[in-house]
Amino acid sequence: MAKPLSVLFVSSEALPYIKTGGVADVAYSLPLALRDLGHDMRIMLPKYGSVSERRNRIHDINRLKDVPIPIGSHTDPATIKSSSINNPRAKVQAYITTNNKYFDAKKGIYSDAKTGKPYPDNSERFIYFCRSVIETCLILNWYPDIIHCNDWQTAFVLIMAKTAFSKDFKKTKFVFTFHNMNQQGEFSEKQFDLTGLSQKVKNDLIHKKMINPVKGALIYSDYITTVSETYAKDVLQDSKHTNDLNSLLLKYKKRYKGILNGIDTYSWDPKIDSLISKKMGNNFNEFKQPNKKTLALKTGLNYNEDIPMIGMITRLDEQKGFPLVLSSIDKLFHEDIQMVILCDGSQESKNELRDLSLKYPKKLKVRFGFDEPMAHLIEAGSDMFLMPSEYEPCGLNAMYSLAYGSVPIVRSTGGLNEIVIDFNSENKSGNGITFKNYKSADMIQSINKALSLFKNKELWEVIVQNGMSGDYSWGKSVKEYDEIYKSITKD
Ligand code: ADP
Repeated sequence: MAKPLSVLFVSSEALPYIKTGGVADVAYSLPLALRDLGHDMRIMLPKYGSVSERRNRIHDINRLKDVPIPIGSHTDPATIKSSSINNPRAKVQAYITTNNKYFDAKKGIYSDAKTGKPYPDNSERFIYFCRSVIETCLILNWYPDIIHCNDWQTAFVLIMAKTAFSKDFKKTKFVFTFHNMNQQGEFSEKQFDLTGLSQKVKNDLIHKKMINPVKGALIYSDYITTVSETYAKDVLQDSKHTNDLNSLLLKYKKRYKGILNGIDTYSWDPKIDSLISKKMGNNFNEFKQPNKKTLALKTGLNYNEDIPMIGMITRLDEQKGFPLVLSSIDKLFHEDIQMVILCDGSQESKNELRDLSLKYPKKLKVRFGFDEPMAHLIEAGSDMFLMPSEYEPCGLNAMYSLAYGSVPIVRSTGGLNEIVIDFNSENKSGNGITFKNYKSADMIQSINKALSLFKNKELWEVIVQNGMSGDYSWGKSVKEYDEIYKSITKD
C-alpha cells in the first residue's frame, strides 16, 4: 500500500469496553480493519464506572497521569490510561480517559440506568472528554494525519483542534461520522464557556438558539461520512430527524459520503461463536434447532421446530419501530408464532411490553437490559428477525441476522435498504422480507409473507442460504474510508 497514515479514532463507546449501540461495534471493528490495511490506528474513549480495568487490561502510562484538563474556568485532572483492542489479524492501541467525577462515578454512559433519564451534565462530560483528547496529543507531541470523530460526543475534538489549536494540528485532517443525525447533543448558550472557545466559534455553533456540536462538526470537518449510502441520501431530504441541519449538510455535499458499515467477522461468525449453544457446521438445521431450543428454554417458551420464532434486539425507541410492534401484537398473535425481544429503554415503554408479555405468556418473552450473550443466542436461535424501523442509519442487526440464518423482516429504509433484499419466489433471489410504508398493516403483511414461506421448508432454506452466503465484512467499505483518508491528506 501507499504510505500508511497515523489515525486517531475517537468515540464515546467501543467494544470490548462498553456498548449501547452500533457505534461501539464500529469503533472496534473499523479501526482493526484499517489497521489490517497497514495504517497506524489508535482509538480513544472515556472510561465509565462499569468498565473493569482488570478485565480489560487497562493500565497507567507515566506521562499521562493527572493531566490538567481545562474545563470552563477551572481544570480537573484526567489520567489517560492505556489498553488495546485486537482480533486475530490486528491490534490497536487504546487511550482511555479516566476521571472520577465525569465518568467513573457513573455506571451508565449517557443516562441513569434507574430513571432512564440523560445525565444533566452530559454536555460538560463530553466537552471534558474532547479536551482530554486534545491534551493527550499535545503531551505526546503526536499530531496524527487523521482524527476521525464519531457523533456529537466527539465533535468538540475537531472543533477545538481546528480553532483554538489550529497551529498544533496544522497537518491533521478531520473526518466526522454521524451514526444518527437525530442526536446532536445540543446545550444552552450559557454553557458554551465550558469549551474555552471564542465568540466566533460560538456564533458558528448556534442553531435554533442552542449550541449544536454536530453543526460545528459539519462546518469544521474536512470530510463527513455516515453509515450507509441510502441514509446519506435520506438525511438530506429529512428535516424532521435532522433538526433542520439537512440544509447545512447539503452545502457540504462534495465532502460527504455514505459508507455501509461492515461487521466484525470474528465476533459474529456462527462457525466459531462461543456465546451460542451449537456452532454452525455443514447442516443448517443441526445449528438452528439446538440454538432455538436453548433460546426457548432460557426464555421460558415451549420449543417447537415448526412454530416460527421471531427475534428482536433493540432500543425501545420510536426510530426502531417500537410503536408499530405494540399496535400490531394482538393481530400478530392470532398466528401460531413465538417472539423474543431483548431491549432497553424508558421505564414506560418497558412497562408496556411487560404487560403484553403477561397477556401472551406462551408467545412473547421480553428481556430487559443489555445482554451480549443473549443477543448472540437470539440471532442463532430465531427463525426470523424483525426490524420495522421508522428510519435506520445502518442496521447492523440485520447483517448479524443474515449471517446467523435468521431471516430479516425489515422496513426498507436507510442501511436496511442495502442489506436486505426482498425475496422473490420466482427467481429465488433475495435474502429477507421487506416492506416500504411505515404502517402496521404493511409490517403485518410482510410477517405473514414470512410465515407462509417458512412453511415451505425448501424455499425457506433457499432464503436462509442466500443470506448466509453474503459478505458483510468490512472488505469493501474499509477501502472507501482508506480512499477518503488518502484524498484529504494528499496535499
Ligand atoms: P443502533 O446503533 O441504532 O442502536 P444497530 O442495529 O446498528 O442500531 O446496532 C445495535 C447494536 O446494539 C447491535 O449490535 C445490537 O445487537 C446491539 N444491541 C442493541 N440492544 C441490545 C441489548 N439490549 N442487548 C445486547 N445488544 C444490544
